[in-house]
Amino acid sequence: MQWYYADQGQQKGPVEEAALDELVLAGAVRDDTLVWREGMQNWQPHASVRGPRTRPAVPEPVVGDVKFCGQCGRPFPPNDLVEIGTVSLCAMCKPAYVQRLREGALQGIGTRRYGGFWIRFVARVIDGLLVQVVLVALAALLTASFRAGAPRSGTIALAIIYPLSFGLSAGYEIYFLTSRGATLGKMLFGLKVIRSDGSKLSAGVSTSRYFAQFLSYITLGIGYLMAGFDEEKRALHDRICETRVVYSK
Ligand SMILES: [Zn+2]
Repeated sequence: MQWYYADQGQQKGPVEEAALDELVLAGAVRDDTLVWREGMQNWQPHASVRGPRTRPAVPEPVVGDVKFCGQCGRPFPPNDLVEIGTVSLCAMCKPAYVQRLREGALQGIGTRRYGGFWIRFVARVIDGLLVQVVLVALAALLTASFRAGAPRSGTIALAIIYPLSFGLSAGYEIYFLTSRGATLGKMLFGLKVIRSDGSKLSAGVSTSRYFAQFLSYITLGIGYLMAGFDEEKRALHDRICETRVVYSK
């Protein structure tokens, strides 16, 4: 098929279809260049007859700052790269890299050492004592602040101490698990609490785990004992919250 095209007011051609394609690639025939072939009523813009020019897949020239993808080594504008850990990655390399990271993490799971029932039991006793010490100190302050023999002071003190005791132990565990990965008792034995995928506990998970422990508790402690019989040493609340207690080294 033979084409004619307009070039600066001049009619050019005829050229074969393939030659026209080359002119398009070279930029001599653009979307708005008028073209005509036999059978067409009028000259029409190239784009409306043969579709808009598809750009050849030439990478955009990188101007200014350039960073290199840590995987394929190609240059990119820094904003096009994602930082994962210490590695900069382009959009094409990122999925595979993340995949490999996951597999690495999964391999790590095989070498994990899980904290068993007894060591966790002792850690919990220590945590309980720590909270008790603080609580007793607060209670002493509280009773001292009441005048001796003031009416109903004992009742008021109890009404404050019970919620205080609850808030203190909840706050203690949730705070330490979220910010340090372990309570002081667990730290003492080099234990930490993680998600099954190895990630840290969010405040939400720490909170759910704290309350899930009541299930372990009200089942006469069977929920806790489950840790002793589980391959991954999961207590009931670990199963519920997808957490694991592991040695940090
Ligand atoms: Zn890359």
